Amino acid sequence: MISIKKVNQHYGGTQILWDLDLDIEPGSRTCIMGRNGVGKSTLLQCMMGLRPITSGEILMDGSPMHTKSAEARAPAGIGYVPQGREIFPLLTVEENLRLGLPIRAQRLGKDEAKEIPKKIFDLFPVLGEMMHRRGGDLSGGQQQQLAIGRALVIEPKVLILDEPNEGIQPNIVKQIGDVILKLNEEEGMTVILVEQKLGFARRIGQSFRLMERGKIVAQDSMDKLSDDLISKYLAV
Ligand code: ATP
Ligand code: MG
Repeated sequence: MISIKKVNQHYGGTQILWDLDLDIEPGSRTCIMGRNGVGKSTLLQCMMGLRPITSGEILMDGSPMHTKSAEARAPAGIGYVPQGREIFPLLTVEENLRLGLPIRAQRLGKDEAKEIPKKIFDLFPVLGEMMHRRGGDLSGGQQQQLAIGRALVIEPKVLILDEPNEGIQPNIVKQIGDVILKLNEEEGMTVILVEQKLGFARRIGQSFRLMERGKIVAQDSMDKLSDDLISKYLAV
């Protein structure tokens, strides 16, 4: 579904991603792991077109995505939940969600894009209850649910989440995990999750990719994530 081939990326003179290869199967749940600063978020930003790549290819369903603008990638069916959530604090919950409607219209047609899909409020009831609150007044966990809800407005084929549980209380972490599993199992949504917390990674990921210094250095099914790999690439 997504195929990344020999991608290199630089911030100014510093190379961050090095000949990085990554293949994501349709309908799979893949967890990208690695210590702070290894380039996990940079990789996701390159996939979304938010950072230019220096060389290499990013393909979706066989067609080049790296040549498209960032604006053209979400309508192709990629939902992105950035690290740190990046909701708009002065806009209400409803306004934050409605921001996804123009892209939903591009994907599914104008008639499909008049209202925020009800499904989002079934998945995250708190968003319905807090429709008219400002995003900035929500708790961290509620803001994260809003960020995921906003990504789901476009009914993505692929959902990309960057450390969705940073600084969030356990009951909401559990709820977010339930939603990710439900979307994958019931709708076949492909899930790419960047996660540092082992428990959550093991629960959600069917397979892992370990990153170190801008490269994938190990990959396997999640049950093969050994203590050796953990101490080598994850433990501080
Ligand atoms: P974390 O787990 O802390 O989120 P990460 O694996 O997501 O880390 P990135 O945010 O992708 O790592 O950063 C990779 C490297 O790129 C780091 O060394 C970081 O300092 C550097 N970097 C990130 N953003 C910039 C920037 N705007 N300009 C220059 N260097 C940057
Ligand atoms: Mg990051």
